[in-house]
Amino acid sequence: MKIALIAHDKKKDLIIEFSKLHEAYLKTHQLYATGTTGKKIMEHTNLSVNLKKSGPLGGDQEIGSMIANGKIDMVIFFRDPLTAQPHEPDVSALLRLCDVYNIPLATNPKAAELFLGELKSK
Ligand code: PGA
Repeated sequence: MKIALIAHDKKKDLIIEFSKLHEAYLKTHQLYATGTTGKKIMEHTNLSVNLKKSGPLGGDQEIGSMIANGKIDMVIFFRDPLTAQPHEPDVSALLRLCDVYNIPLATNPKAAELFLGELKSK
């Protein structure tokens, strides 16, 4: 599966923790991430992540474009709902494309755990 991993700054620690916890399983998939998220995941795990631009510099749009082209199967995006984001339009567009193309989208760790649990059971 092609999985996109994204986290806003205040959620970076959470996605690192999530990636460490599920490292062995995530290793069996193709991973993509916005720039800073992906770099941090690679710093803290042995996962190999295909890096896009940083979110505020177009990374969310790059992931969106992959979704529109059938190149992403699942998105894990730990959003920060309490901080204004300069690239909010890009974030909204990405979430919207997940719904347009029926791509599973987990926006918090519990949802992501459920998704992975479901995938592992198949
Ligand atoms: P980042 O982008 O991984 O480059 O920080 C994430 C985002 O804010 O959309």
